[in-house]
Amino acid sequence: MSYIKQIESLVILQDIDKEMGDLEKTLEAAPKEVETLKERLEIQENQRKQVEEKLKILQEQDEKLTKELEEDQAKLKKSKNKLMMVENSKEYHAIMREIDTLEKNSRLKEEEKLTLEEELDTQQRLLDALNEEISKISGELQQKEDALDKIINRCESRIKELKEKRAEFAKQIPPPILSRYEFIRARLSNPVIVPVEDSICTGCHISIPPQTYIELQKGLQILSCPNCQRLIYWKNHFEVE
Ligand SMILES: [Zn+2]
Repeated sequence: MSYIKQIESLVILQDIDKEMGDLEKTLEAAPKEVETLKERLEIQENQRKQVEEKLKILQEQDEKLTKELEEDQAKLKKSKNKLMMVENSKEYHAIMREIDTLEKNSRLKEEEKLTLEEELDTQQRLLDALNEEISKISGELQQKEDALDKIINRCESRIKELKEKRAEFAKQIPPPILSRYEFIRARLSNPVIVPVEDSICTGCHISIPPQTYIELQKGLQILSCPNCQRLIYWKNHFEVE
């Protein structure tokens, strides 16, 4: 296998590895998005449950107060009727005191009812906002879940394709060079094989020694950058499309 062919195969191998790496990252990230949405939904639903419970209690209190107020009004009416039929001033004063107490209690209850209704209103608005948010997240979740299967299938079938392609190319590369490639790949961040341009290694951006540069231009064997250890080739030898 010619020197240029080897470089070409290594570059293709690297492209395949890069694409596979990206696909694996996607495979890992996609279910996490669904998980995050599920967690968000759960938080909002718990909050909704709390608000609904609070609303229930407030409504019960409101009903109780309304009923009490009605009863008070009835009592008041009764007392006022009694007032018409009093026979002496002692009785009159007693009924007046009764009416006074009833009216005072009613006023307090009216105030309480007002505060309660304000709180009911606040909680109701909170519930409306939560419902809106929950339906938004549910919609988004449904979409992501539907898309997830498609993403997984697409990534998995592409990875399978790439693995076959990789095995094909790996076969063409002499084993010592392939194992150098794998060695570097396991230890360095991408890329593994890089062009040298005007004697500068594009992997680490440091100039390679003149003697190495001359060797590289001869194109007889695969060399490594003395600084970053990446496999290098002269840019003029091979142009990546
Ligand atoms: Zn380098």
